[in-house]
Amino acid sequence: MKSTILVTGGAGYIGSHTCKALRDSDCLPVAYDNLVYGHREAAQWGPLEYGDILDHARLDQVFRLYQPEAVIHFAAYAYVGESVVDPGKYYQNNVAGTINLLESMRRHGCRMIIFSSTCASFGLPKMIPIGETAEQNPINPYGRSKLMIEQILKDYDGAYGIRHIALRYFNAAGADPEGVVGEDHEPETHLIPLVIDAALGRRECIEIFGTDYPTPDGTAIRDYVHVTDLADAHVRAVDKLRRDGSSDQFNLGTGTGTSVRQIIQSVETISRCTVPVREGHRRPGDPPELVADPRKALQFLDWRPRFSELETIVGTAFRWHEGGGFRGA
Ligand code: UDP
Repeated sequence: MKSTILVTGGAGYIGSHTCKALRDSDCLPVAYDNLVYGHREAAQWGPLEYGDILDHARLDQVFRLYQPEAVIHFAAYAYVGESVVDPGKYYQNNVAGTINLLESMRRHGCRMIIFSSTCASFGLPKMIPIGETAEQNPINPYGRSKLMIEQILKDYDGAYGIRHIALRYFNAAGADPEGVVGEDHEPETHLIPLVIDAALGRRECIEIFGTDYPTPDGTAIRDYVHVTDLADAHVRAVDKLRRDGSSDQFNLGTGTGTSVRQIIQSVETISRCTVPVREGHRRPGDPPELVADPRKALQFLDWRPRFSELETIVGTAFRWHEGGGFRGA
């Protein structure tokens, strides 16, 4: 019998790519999404159950109906700036919502959860690359909400035997290589889609947030990892929990850093367009460099990024955005 996996936020960016990967590995992904940021069209790899993680009655109904073997939990708000202005929204949805979900899991005897965590939980790291044991000192409510859940998950493991794997994403980017799903945020704040829009003349220019960082070209460095590679890591994480049942944490990045200027250059090469640039001030709270040490995921999840070369990330993202995303579908 197919394994059923409940995917909260399954109509979102990383969630929808993960549902596709689950379907390809012969599981039944059930997307649970309130469609605040998710797209109905993105949930095409299994049933879509409309619902909010704060609604425990609705969650119970869905657990009763599908009796999932495991949960992959993406549903969360993820705008750093907004989390500073409105932390209540982040603690309510991300933290209280996750507790709600965990309580539903307890009531229905579901004992495995894969959790979307973030490199923002490390704050301003003392050392690059960032390994799993680096100190976690988040500097905004979004990062704190994710770290709180990592801690709550450890307590739920000790007390109730719910096993978890926390996956800390670095910069998720790119789109499904088959072009069926992709990134479609409203509002969009991420670098690659904004640079692509500037290349396509859909926005006036891209503003570089800071050109005076202590990096080779003065712009901030990030570890961009293809969303399809992240999706694959989730399938592997479920397998690992099934196999050895031990809770764990993994940093998911490539180990290679790319600067803002290198991203712009790559978009120019792929689009064959010039990207108009404005040099601006640093964005508050942005560290100069965030690069993962992915060795633990390589070793214990046997995870090998296959689509995370810069040309593939930018190429797949460009094709998706050029085609208009879900609006062009
Ligand atoms: N960035 C930029 N201009 C923009 C958006 C982002 O220069 O309009 C920079 C940002 O300061 C960071 C990098 O691009 O150094 C990646 O930002 P993004 O928001 O995509 O991801 P984050 O690293 O903040 O999660």
